[in-house]
Amino acid sequence: MSAAIFLDRDGVLIEDVHLLTNPRDIRVLEGVPQALRSLKEAGFQLIVISNQTVVARGLFTEQGVCAINAEMERLLEQAGGPHLDGFYFCPHHPKATLPAYRIACECRKPRPGLLLRAAREHDLNLGASFMVGDRITDIIAGARAGCRTVLIETGKHEAPPIETVEPLDESVQPDHICVALTAAAEWILRVR
Ligand SMILES: [Mg+2]
Ligand SMILES: [Zn+2]
Repeated sequence: MSAAIFLDRDGVLIEDVHLLTNPRDIRVLEGVPQALRSLKEAGFQLIVISNQTVVARGLFTEQGVCAINAEMERLLEQAGGPHLDGFYFCPHHPKATLPAYRIACECRKPRPGLLLRAAREHDLNLGASFMVGDRITDIIAGARAGCRTVLIETGKHEAPPIETVEPLDESVQPDHICVALTAAAEWILRVR
């Protein structure tokens, strides 16, 4: 069994752009390729876990999200980053514009469904894994999956919480708080 670093996408790997639907708008955050490389070299699998409400709102397709993810990976590798091991995203929303996506699913963070699915499909030890995100909902999802958690303060940590079908568990705190993935990676490599 291996361990993973579960990575929120927007605000952790790339700039959090409102309605990211054009690959040309992808901006890899500073230091991210090198931070990912150090985590990969330490034996972690790297798995992206993302809510993509744009799909539920009918503003973008699932194929479009996959195309953005592929372009992001290309940019990361071009900048010296490693190959990523998996991409998982939730296209649903409890109040989706498109009826097909209008469900209270198990995969939308703060629920841990995507992490649990990734753990099954990649044979991961969740207790040895970490979730890194820039919203408290990322932290709650990671904690509920049994991972240690790191909150990156790039801005969205101060934004109002996303709409959820249940009240947020305010007792959940990140195990570590820092300003960027580079610092998160250093901490993870120290405490793992
Ligand atoms: Mg985010
Ligand atoms: Zn979902």
